[in-house]
Amino acid sequence: MKYLIWLVVLLAVVVWFQRAKKSMLAGSDSADAKAEPGMPQPKSSRSRRSSDGGAETMVQCAHCGIHFPVSEAVVHASGAHYCSEEHRRLASF
Ligand SMILES: [Zn+2]
Repeated sequence: MKYLIWLVVLLAVVVWFQRAKKSMLAGSDSADAKAEPGMPQPKSSRSRRSSDGGAETMVQCAHCGIHFPVSEAVVHASGAHYCSEEHRRLASF
């Protein structure tokens, strides 16, 4: 019965080692999947959330009221969002 406990412990250690090895190999391929400390992270991939599942923030054009992703927004000095440069210009005058 005592051996069974040690067998389970040994098995857990082996599984843990294999997992650590696998995650190390995967980490070299796709660094952005796991935020490893010390790894240089490109800031552009963090601000653009469209690729990693999170829905992009939608904003409304202050001129025509259309909804569109914030990455395409033309932001006025006052902080208002516009769907195009033309609508920003129309609103400012
Ligand atoms: Zn508009």
